[in-house]
Amino acid sequence: MIDQHAQPPVGGATLSGVPVGTSTSAAVTAADLDAVAELLGRVPRGVVGIAHRCRCGRPDVVETAPRLPDGTPFPTTYYLVDPFAASALSTLEASGLMRRMQDRLATDPELAAAYAAAHEDYLARRARLGRVEEVEGISAGGMPTRVKCLHALAGHALAAGPGVQPFGDEALALLAAEGGWPATCPHGDAGPAADAGEPRGATTTDEPAAGA
Ligand SMILES: [Zn+2]
Repeated sequence: MIDQHAQPPVGGATLSGVPVGTSTSAAVTAADLDAVAELLGRVPRGVVGIAHRCRCGRPDVVETAPRLPDGTPFPTTYYLVDPFAASALSTLEASGLMRRMQDRLATDPELAAAYAAAHEDYLARRARLGRVEEVEGISAGGMPTRVKCLHALAGHALAAGPGVQPFGDEALALLAAEGGWPATCPHGDAGPAADAGEPRGATTTDEPAAGA
């Protein structure tokens, strides 16, 4: 079971509802959306860019519009779509890492300031995709004062590059040190369709969790 706290924007049987955005990520192609749909087991909605790719080229973080085509506000701009990556981060979460991170915020003003700056970075990046009143001032992952979702923080770190999202950087460094994703590709030579089909934990009824 993939314990990723914000659910992906899903639904729709075609790609025709994907809006043209003003993403600063690499342009998203129909092939990218097909790859994401295979990873998620569903067609993603509102994807306006690919924020990061696995070493094999598969999208692993998508950039999603702050308002989905059906009007739903969606605060999790950088969503981790790869089941291997999500599983690795869930393992870190289960280790108690987030509580230790949050404790450090209280005793390390420099870290707290960096985390607050990461929150502002997240909001600024999302604002470039459009202003959505319902999620104004809300970023992701618990920022700016809580640590609630390493998936969201790692997604942000991968989208922004090193030095922006301190806890996302830390989580990725821990995973890289273990030798798995993102240091190496977990997908093997086969296409995602050969990876046993439906990603673990996927259902067909997940809906975006506004305010997550
Ligand atoms: Zn890969």
